[in-house]
Amino acid sequence: MDVKVIQDLCISCGLCVSNCPEVFSWDDDEKAHVSSEQVNAELEDCVQDAADGCPTDAIETT
Ligand code: SF4
Repeated sequence: MDVKVIQDLCISCGLCVSNCPEVFSWDDDEKAHVSSEQVNAELEDCVQDAADGCPTDAIETT
């Protein structure tokens, strides 16, 4: 799975960073970003939950 955050859409609610800190963290602008776009299989559920729960659909998975 590949994941990215569309930073223009991120409202910094913190959901993804709280729920899946192995993948999401804050950048210098206090927007979420991904540490690595390539997600290991064991983290895919966590990333998908974050994408589904993001209030602005800022998280894209492929
Ligand atoms: S869940 Fe969405 S809006 Fe909230 S911090 Fe993550 S990317 Fe930003």
